[in-house]
Amino acid sequence: MSPIGRRVALRVEGFSKTYTDHAAVQDLSFEVEEGEILGLVGANGAGKTTTLRSIAGILPLQAGRVVIRGHDLIEHELNAKRELAWIPDDPQPFDNLTVDEHLRFTAALYGAKDWESRAEQLLTTFELLEKRQALGGELSRGMRQKLAFCCAWLHKPGVVLMDEPLSGLDPRGIRSAKVAIRDLAREGSSVILSSHLLELIEELADKLLIVHKGRKVFAGTLTELRAQFSTAEGSLEEIFLAITEPKGT
Ligand code: ATP
Repeated sequence: MSPIGRRVALRVEGFSKTYTDHAAVQDLSFEVEEGEILGLVGANGAGKTTTLRSIAGILPLQAGRVVIRGHDLIEHELNAKRELAWIPDDPQPFDNLTVDEHLRFTAALYGAKDWESRAEQLLTTFELLEKRQALGGELSRGMRQKLAFCCAWLHKPGVVLMDEPLSGLDPRGIRSAKVAIRDLAREGSSVILSSHLLELIEELADKLLIVHKGRKVFAGTLTELRAQFSTAEGSLEEIFLAITEPKGT
Protein backbone atom coordinates (compact mmCIF):
# COMPACT_ATOMS: atom_id res chain seq x y z
CA MET A 1 0.00 0.00 0.00
CA SER A 2 1.11 3.56 -0.63
CA PRO A 3 1.07 6.14 2.20
CA ILE A 4 -2.44 7.29 1.11
CA GLY A 5 -3.74 3.73 0.92
CA ARG A 6 -3.80 2.99 -2.82
CA ARG A 7 -2.17 -0.26 -3.82
CA VAL A 8 1.00 -0.28 -5.89
CA ALA A 9 0.19 -1.75 -9.34
CA LEU A 10 3.65 -1.58 -10.89
CA ARG A 11 6.97 -1.67 -9.10
CA VAL A 12 10.28 -1.29 -10.93
CA GLU A 13 13.41 -1.82 -8.84
CA GLY A 14 16.97 -1.17 -9.93
CA PHE A 15 16.28 -1.57 -13.65
CA SER A 16 19.31 -1.18 -15.92
CA LYS A 17 19.81 -1.91 -19.60
CA THR A 18 22.98 -1.81 -21.64
CA TYR A 19 23.08 -2.09 -25.44
CA THR A 20 26.49 -3.53 -26.35
CA ASP A 21 28.64 -1.06 -24.38
CA HIS A 22 26.12 1.79 -24.08
CA ALA A 23 24.26 2.12 -20.76
CA ALA A 24 20.77 3.19 -21.91
CA VAL A 25 19.12 3.01 -18.47
CA GLN A 26 20.86 2.89 -15.10
CA ASP A 27 19.43 1.80 -11.76
CA LEU A 28 15.90 3.04 -12.34
CA SER A 29 13.33 2.49 -9.58
CA PHE A 30 9.77 3.77 -9.40
CA GLU A 31 6.20 2.77 -8.55
CA VAL A 32 2.79 3.40 -10.06
CA GLU A 33 -0.32 3.08 -7.91
CA GLU A 34 -3.68 1.67 -8.93
CA GLY A 35 -5.68 4.20 -10.91
CA GLU A 36 -2.71 6.53 -11.30
CA ILE A 37 -1.43 8.12 -14.51
CA LEU A 38 2.35 8.48 -14.52
CA GLY A 39 3.85 10.84 -17.08
CA LEU A 40 7.20 9.55 -18.32
CA VAL A 41 9.27 12.41 -19.63
CA GLY A 42 12.78 12.67 -21.04
CA ALA A 43 14.73 14.00 -24.00
CA ASN A 44 15.37 11.89 -27.12
CA GLY A 45 17.50 8.94 -26.13
CA ALA A 46 16.79 9.31 -22.39
CA GLY A 47 15.74 5.66 -22.14
CA LYS A 48 11.93 5.87 -22.08
CA THR A 49 11.15 3.34 -24.80
CA THR A 50 13.84 0.99 -23.52
CA THR A 51 12.19 1.11 -20.09
CA LEU A 52 8.67 0.55 -21.43
CA ARG A 53 9.73 -2.28 -23.74
CA SER A 54 11.53 -3.99 -20.86
CA ILE A 55 8.52 -3.69 -18.54
CA ALA A 56 6.35 -5.10 -21.34
CA GLY A 57 8.71 -8.06 -21.66
CA ILE A 58 9.53 -7.25 -25.28
CA LEU A 59 13.17 -6.68 -24.35
CA PRO A 60 14.57 -9.26 -21.94
CA LEU A 61 14.91 -7.82 -18.44
CA GLN A 62 18.66 -7.42 -18.16
CA ALA A 63 18.97 -6.19 -14.58
CA GLY A 64 16.52 -5.27 -11.87
CA ARG A 65 13.02 -6.39 -10.97
CA VAL A 66 9.57 -5.63 -12.36
CA VAL A 67 6.44 -6.56 -10.41
CA ILE A 68 3.06 -6.09 -12.09
CA ARG A 69 0.04 -6.32 -9.78
CA GLY A 70 2.00 -8.58 -7.47
CA HIS A 71 3.37 -10.82 -10.24
CA ASP A 72 7.12 -10.84 -10.79
CA LEU A 73 7.78 -10.44 -14.51
CA ILE A 74 10.47 -13.14 -14.54
CA GLU A 75 9.06 -15.65 -12.04
CA HIS A 76 5.40 -15.35 -13.06
CA GLU A 77 5.69 -14.04 -16.59
CA LEU A 78 2.28 -15.13 -17.85
CA ASN A 79 0.34 -13.75 -14.89
CA ALA A 80 2.31 -10.51 -15.08
CA LYS A 81 1.68 -10.10 -18.81
CA ARG A 82 -2.03 -10.89 -18.42
CA GLU A 83 -2.29 -7.66 -16.43
CA LEU A 84 -0.48 -5.60 -19.01
CA ALA A 85 -1.28 -3.73 -22.20
CA TRP A 86 1.32 -2.08 -24.40
CA ILE A 87 0.65 0.58 -27.02
CA PRO A 88 3.75 1.38 -29.09
CA ASP A 89 4.10 4.71 -30.87
CA ASP A 90 3.42 3.21 -34.31
CA PRO A 91 1.28 0.09 -33.84
CA GLN A 92 1.44 -2.49 -36.61
CA PRO A 93 -1.72 -4.58 -36.79
CA PHE A 94 -1.84 -7.84 -38.71
CA ASP A 95 -2.23 -6.99 -42.42
CA ASN A 96 -4.71 -9.78 -43.06
CA LEU A 97 -6.99 -9.51 -40.04
CA THR A 98 -9.96 -7.15 -39.99
CA VAL A 99 -10.56 -4.69 -37.16
CA ASP A 100 -13.24 -7.03 -35.76
CA GLU A 101 -10.90 -10.00 -36.02
CA HIS A 102 -8.20 -8.11 -34.10
CA LEU A 103 -10.65 -7.57 -31.24
CA ARG A 104 -11.82 -11.20 -31.31
CA PHE A 105 -8.20 -12.40 -31.37
CA THR A 106 -7.22 -10.11 -28.48
CA ALA A 107 -10.23 -11.21 -26.41
CA ALA A 108 -9.30 -14.88 -26.99
CA LEU A 109 -5.65 -14.22 -26.16
CA TYR A 110 -6.50 -12.66 -22.81
CA GLY A 111 -9.47 -14.94 -22.09
CA ALA A 112 -11.73 -11.87 -21.85
CA LYS A 113 -15.37 -12.68 -21.12
CA ASP A 114 -18.43 -10.72 -22.32
CA TRP A 115 -16.15 -8.45 -24.28
CA GLU A 116 -18.47 -7.74 -27.23
CA SER A 117 -20.31 -4.80 -25.68
CA ARG A 118 -17.04 -3.26 -24.50
CA ALA A 119 -15.63 -3.70 -28.03
CA GLU A 120 -18.70 -1.98 -29.47
CA GLN A 121 -18.27 0.89 -27.03
CA LEU A 122 -14.57 1.24 -27.83
CA LEU A 123 -15.15 1.17 -31.59
CA THR A 124 -17.72 3.92 -31.10
CA THR A 125 -15.40 6.01 -28.90
CA PHE A 126 -12.58 5.75 -31.40
CA GLU A 127 -14.79 6.15 -34.49
CA LEU A 128 -13.87 2.80 -35.98
CA LEU A 129 -17.38 1.35 -36.38
CA GLU A 130 -17.33 1.92 -40.12
CA LYS A 131 -13.95 0.22 -40.37
CA ARG A 132 -14.74 -2.99 -38.52
CA GLN A 133 -14.47 -5.05 -41.72
CA ALA A 134 -11.32 -3.23 -42.95
CA LEU A 135 -8.06 -5.16 -42.93
CA GLY A 136 -5.17 -4.04 -40.70
CA GLY A 137 -3.13 -3.28 -43.82
CA GLU A 138 -5.85 -0.91 -45.06
CA LEU A 139 -5.85 1.35 -41.99
CA SER A 140 -4.29 4.80 -41.85
CA ARG A 141 -1.66 5.57 -39.19
CA GLY A 142 -4.21 7.21 -36.90
CA MET A 143 -6.66 4.35 -37.37
CA ARG A 144 -3.93 1.85 -36.44
CA GLN A 145 -3.35 3.86 -33.28
CA LYS A 146 -7.07 3.82 -32.50
CA LEU A 147 -7.27 0.06 -33.09
CA ALA A 148 -4.33 -0.40 -30.72
CA PHE A 149 -6.27 1.53 -28.05
CA CYS A 150 -9.35 -0.65 -28.59
CA CYS A 151 -7.32 -3.88 -28.31
CA ALA A 152 -5.38 -2.65 -25.28
CA TRP A 153 -8.51 -1.47 -23.45
CA LEU A 154 -10.55 -4.60 -24.21
CA HIS A 155 -9.41 -6.84 -21.37
CA LYS A 156 -9.43 -4.09 -18.72
CA PRO A 157 -5.68 -4.26 -18.14
CA GLY A 158 -4.21 -3.52 -14.71
CA VAL A 159 -1.30 -1.58 -16.16
CA VAL A 160 -1.19 0.18 -19.55
CA LEU A 161 2.06 1.35 -21.10
CA MET A 162 1.75 4.00 -23.80
CA ASP A 163 4.58 5.36 -25.93
CA GLU A 164 3.56 8.66 -27.59
CA PRO A 165 -0.04 7.48 -27.79
CA LEU A 166 -1.48 10.56 -29.47
CA SER A 167 0.93 10.87 -32.38
CA GLY A 168 -0.99 10.38 -35.60
CA LEU A 169 -4.43 11.07 -34.11
CA ASP A 170 -6.72 13.77 -35.50
CA PRO A 171 -8.10 16.44 -33.09
CA ARG A 172 -11.27 14.46 -32.35
CA GLY A 173 -9.19 11.31 -31.84
CA ILE A 174 -6.91 13.20 -29.44
CA ARG A 175 -9.93 14.40 -27.44
CA SER A 176 -11.42 10.86 -27.35
CA ALA A 177 -8.09 9.33 -26.34
CA LYS A 178 -7.62 11.81 -23.48
CA VAL A 179 -11.11 11.11 -22.14
CA ALA A 180 -10.59 7.35 -22.57
CA ILE A 181 -7.22 7.44 -20.75
CA ARG A 182 -8.82 9.29 -17.83
CA ASP A 183 -11.76 6.85 -17.77
CA LEU A 184 -9.39 3.91 -17.84
CA ALA A 185 -7.54 5.24 -14.79
CA ARG A 186 -10.86 5.94 -13.07
CA GLU A 187 -11.77 2.28 -13.61
CA GLY A 188 -8.61 1.40 -11.64
CA SER A 189 -6.01 0.78 -14.36
CA SER A 190 -2.59 2.33 -13.93
CA VAL A 191 -1.20 4.16 -16.92
CA ILE A 192 2.32 5.09 -17.90
CA LEU A 193 2.16 7.78 -20.51
CA SER A 194 5.43 8.53 -22.26
CA SER A 195 5.29 11.69 -24.35
CA HIS A 196 7.18 14.74 -25.48
CA LEU A 197 3.88 16.65 -25.38
CA LEU A 198 4.42 18.24 -22.00
CA GLU A 199 1.07 20.01 -22.01
CA LEU A 200 -0.58 16.62 -22.38
CA ILE A 201 1.44 15.26 -19.48
CA GLU A 202 0.53 18.28 -17.35
CA GLU A 203 -3.12 17.80 -18.25
CA LEU A 204 -3.38 14.05 -17.60
CA ALA A 205 -0.62 12.85 -15.31
CA ASP A 206 -1.05 12.53 -11.55
CA LYS A 207 2.68 12.07 -11.14
CA LEU A 208 5.81 12.55 -13.22
CA LEU A 209 8.89 10.48 -13.78
CA ILE A 210 11.66 12.48 -15.45
CA VAL A 211 14.61 10.58 -16.85
CA HIS A 212 17.76 12.10 -18.22
CA LYS A 213 20.54 10.16 -19.92
CA GLY A 214 19.19 6.91 -18.54
CA ARG A 215 18.84 8.05 -14.93
CA LYS A 216 15.89 9.16 -12.84
CA VAL A 217 16.14 12.86 -12.06
CA PHE A 218 12.70 13.33 -10.53
CA ALA A 219 9.65 11.34 -9.41
CA GLY A 220 6.61 12.96 -7.85
CA THR A 221 3.83 15.45 -8.51
CA LEU A 222 4.13 18.67 -10.48
CA THR A 223 3.70 20.60 -7.24
CA GLU A 224 6.62 18.69 -5.72
CA LEU A 225 8.64 19.32 -8.88
CA ARG A 226 7.99 23.05 -8.63
CA ALA A 227 8.97 23.00 -4.94
CA GLN A 228 12.17 21.09 -5.70
CA PHE A 229 13.16 23.50 -8.45
CA SER A 230 12.06 26.58 -6.48
CA THR A 231 9.50 27.84 -8.95
CA ALA A 232 5.93 28.40 -7.86
CA GLU A 233 4.45 28.95 -11.31
CA GLY A 234 6.86 27.40 -13.81
CA SER A 235 5.36 25.17 -16.49
CA LEU A 236 6.57 21.60 -16.83
CA GLU A 237 8.17 22.66 -20.11
CA GLU A 238 10.26 25.38 -18.46
CA ILE A 239 11.43 23.12 -15.64
CA PHE A 240 12.11 20.24 -18.04
CA LEU A 241 14.23 22.45 -20.28
CA ALA A 242 16.21 23.67 -17.27
CA ILE A 243 16.82 20.12 -15.98
CA THR A 244 17.88 18.77 -19.35
CA GLU A 245 19.91 21.77 -20.50
CA PRO A 246 23.19 20.60 -22.01
CA LYS A 247 26.15 21.54 -19.82
CA GLY A 248 28.10 24.60 -20.99
CA THR A 249 25.15 26.43 -22.66
P1 ATP B 1 13.02 9.03 -27.91
O1 ATP B 1 12.38 10.13 -27.13
O2 ATP B 1 13.90 9.55 -28.99
O3 ATP B 1 12.05 7.99 -28.39
P2 ATP B 1 13.85 7.32 -25.70
O4 ATP B 1 13.88 8.06 -24.41
O5 ATP B 1 12.67 6.45 -25.93
O6 ATP B 1 14.05 8.32 -26.90
P3 ATP B 1 15.46 4.93 -26.10
O7 ATP B 1 14.87 4.57 -27.43
O8 ATP B 1 15.07 4.11 -24.95
O9 ATP B 1 15.20 6.48 -25.76
O10 ATP B 1 17.04 4.91 -26.26
C1 ATP B 1 17.90 5.07 -25.14
C2 ATP B 1 19.35 4.92 -25.61
O11 ATP B 1 19.56 3.59 -26.04
C3 ATP B 1 19.72 5.81 -26.78
O12 ATP B 1 21.05 6.25 -26.60
C4 ATP B 1 19.64 4.90 -27.98
O13 ATP B 1 20.55 5.28 -29.00
C5 ATP B 1 20.01 3.55 -27.38
N1 ATP B 1 19.33 2.45 -28.07
C6 ATP B 1 18.00 2.26 -28.17
N2 ATP B 1 17.71 1.13 -28.85
C7 ATP B 1 18.92 0.59 -29.17
C8 ATP B 1 19.32 -0.59 -29.89
N3 ATP B 1 18.41 -1.45 -30.38
N4 ATP B 1 20.63 -0.82 -30.03
C9 ATP B 1 21.56 0.02 -29.53
N5 ATP B 1 21.25 1.15 -28.84
C10 ATP B 1 19.95 1.44 -28.68
